[in-house]
Amino acid sequence: VSLLPRPEHPRVFVVANQKGGVGKTTTSVNLAAGLALGGLNVVLIDLDPQGNASTALGIEHSPGTPGTYEVLIEDAAIAEHLVDSPEAPSLRVLPATIDLAGAEIQLVSKVARENRLRRALRTFLADENVDYVFLDCPPSLGLITLNALVAAGEILIPIQCEYYALEGVSQLVRTINLVKGELNEDLSVTTVLLTMYDARTRLAAQVADEVRAYFADQTLPTVIPRSVRISEAPSYGQTVLTYHPDSAGAVSYLEAAHEIARRGAKENT
Ligand code: ADP
Ligand code: MG
Repeated sequence: VSLLPRPEHPRVFVVANQKGGVGKTTTSVNLAAGLALGGLNVVLIDLDPQGNASTALGIEHSPGTPGTYEVLIEDAAIAEHLVDSPEAPSLRVLPATIDLAGAEIQLVSKVARENRLRRALRTFLADENVDYVFLDCPPSLGLITLNALVAAGEILIPIQCEYYALEGVSQLVRTINLVKGELNEDLSVTTVLLTMYDARTRLAAQVADEVRAYFADQTLPTVIPRSVRISEAPSYGQTVLTYHPDSAGAVSYLEAAHEIARRGAKENT
């Protein structure tokens, strides 16, 4: 396994797209694992009450398992509840359980309710040598996603190559600009990844062209193909990188992880 370049500062990615099923979780877990397999220290924070990212990384997340809920609502330290993922030696996960569903409401009455993850993450990153943090968001623009947008420096948008892909994205970009203006001026869309690409259809190619025109600098050269191996992997508690390392899906996620690491080594915007 080749060693990837370390970024100068920890890079915190929020993987966002308010549409469900576009590949946020799949992208979060496979990029996190890909960077960790390259020798980097990676943390994934699961912010979705479904806990799909926790599952895919082989992490226990039955109700009552401490994790993201305790950090957001009970002021627990992130380091306290991180769990080692069997997927890679330097990959740790803050698990999400169904308890997190209630956090959306409980956050409303908290002081500095949109800043809670940012504060916890700053304390954590000041103490530990971490290269990459991935924040896997639920498919909604509520307070949990807002906490992620405020805590992150970079946004990674996975885009599924289908009709109306860009319409949803322009709504997301408006939200991002609001957050930038009011709560987190450091936030920027640095990375766009085309997912579930079906090379047999003209539509996919057209959408890919449109996305590359709109996000010229941000779109990664690598495209993630639609692949049965990718969709099967989570039911084995694995990423596709360990489930079927030679599959097209695994190779492309690994390549995307390498592209992100190489870009981050040069400049950080
Ligand atoms: P989100 O987190 O945005 O809701 P997921 O990552 O959970 O999206 O993906 C939605 C579904 O699509 C899941 O069942 C997942 O396994 C599947 N999926 C994701 N990426 C691919 C792909 N490249 N090829 C085939 N299936 C995929
Ligand atoms: Mg998800």
